[in-house]
Amino acid sequence: MIDLKGFEVWFITGSQHLHGEKTLRQVQEHALTVASSLHNSEKIPVKVISKPVLTTREAICQVILEANASVSCIGLIAWMHTFSPAKMWIAGLKALQKPLLHLHTQFNRDIPWSSIDMDFMNLNQSAHGGREFGYMMSRMKIKRKVVVGHWQEPELQEKIAVWMRAACGWHDAQGAAFARLGDNMRQVAVTEGDKVEAETKLGYSVNGYGVGDLVSFVDQVADNDINRLVEEYEELYTVSPAMTANGPGRNSLKECARIEIGLRAFLKEGGFKGFTDTFENLHGLRQLPGLPVQRLMAEGYGFGAEGDWKTAALVRAMKVMAHGLPGGNSFMEDYTYHFHPENMNVLGAHMLEICSSIAMGKPSCEIHPLGIGGREDPVRLVFNVAPGEALNASMIDLGNRFRLLVNKVVAVAPENELPELPVARVLWKPLPDLKTAATAWILAGGAHHTCFSQNLTTEYLEDFSDMADIEFIKIDQSTDLYHFKNELRWNEAAF
Ligand code: MN
Repeated sequence: MIDLKGFEVWFITGSQHLHGEKTLRQVQEHALTVASSLHNSEKIPVKVISKPVLTTREAICQVILEANASVSCIGLIAWMHTFSPAKMWIAGLKALQKPLLHLHTQFNRDIPWSSIDMDFMNLNQSAHGGREFGYMMSRMKIKRKVVVGHWQEPELQEKIAVWMRAACGWHDAQGAAFARLGDNMRQVAVTEGDKVEAETKLGYSVNGYGVGDLVSFVDQVADNDINRLVEEYEELYTVSPAMTANGPGRNSLKECARIEIGLRAFLKEGGFKGFTDTFENLHGLRQLPGLPVQRLMAEGYGFGAEGDWKTAALVRAMKVMAHGLPGGNSFMEDYTYHFHPENMNVLGAHMLEICSSIAMGKPSCEIHPLGIGGREDPVRLVFNVAPGEALNASMIDLGNRFRLLVNKVVAVAPENELPELPVARVLWKPLPDLKTAATAWILAGGAHHTCFSQNLTTEYLEDFSDMADIEFIKIDQSTDLYHFKNELRWNEAAF
């Protein structure tokens, strides 16, 4: 349900008429070469479309208005090859609604020492033109990503690819719909928020549905479809003996398949990109959806438990950004601590709903009682998660703004068997250390719910925050609490 290949980034090049037609022809050739080199790079996830060199106010306005209106254009890369007087950019930039990356590069990598003359200087003056363009964007207070370096550097292409992926996540959120099945878990604060402000600021809508709306889909599911899906479960997972053909839990597995098929049909019918549910509103559903949610997340749906629509939308956005990269992204919760002085860790999990995209090895499909919710025992996938660098991200509503809070972590291999814990789980060390990270997280008001990512870095989320024009705060190896508290205090003033 996610496909980045149809998306385009438009490559626009600024110049002017001062140095004549010959210079402009060269600028156009260079722009085509740079754009097609990016287009053909394996690192770049979307199409790069080169547009004619821009030399007038009218042409700049025109291309930006077209970009705004285009359903496939996710953003613009702007390069000032020569000097491009920025007053002619004002009207266009005023209209700009798509993310913009300012590529500060030049065609030649090295200065041709023996042949360089004034013609060469005038043709290759990004150093000059990029500053003029940057001044105007700063003056107009337009958020953008500035990437500096030679266009053939792999490192530079990676930074562009990060921005492109963030722009895909942003583009996907515009007009996206999320379904909230039931309301919020009663009395909980951090999962609440201003849905009107979210739609205004972040572009997606969240609307509530009764569980009965879902149940009517679940009730229509045909037995044949249930049997086919149960077979799929048996191929993909190690199904516990209780749920094999003649086991006492077989009907629960079938019921779980029925819920999954009904839930998928409900989401498809409504064109939803994600959803929430809550164990307090399950009337008519015989199980809290566990396995169905784990599998729908792996397909690309965003999800938040207990009515947490902000996390559902964030999970979806991060899945879009990470599409095609190795590793996964999942709804997650900081659950419990290991405070051993030499080995402090966080155990992350949820009651059931951890995405199978982060599973290490073949998940085990099990059925166990659930202490809350008052329904039948739910089926779930149980697995561990591979060690490696990862992060947790949390979107919170501070009343006057959204804050995206990110903590870099290192997932560690499970050191012990957990025979009595029948849920998917991951153990991690937060950076810089558990005490500092948890202090900072709590000072920043971060939620217990997050999106756990194995394949995104903080840079993706920073770029995404700039596109949304929201606050971004990171906790990583360089965080110290003195500076962190100041950052929160200063941001309070800035916002
Ligand atoms: Mn929870």
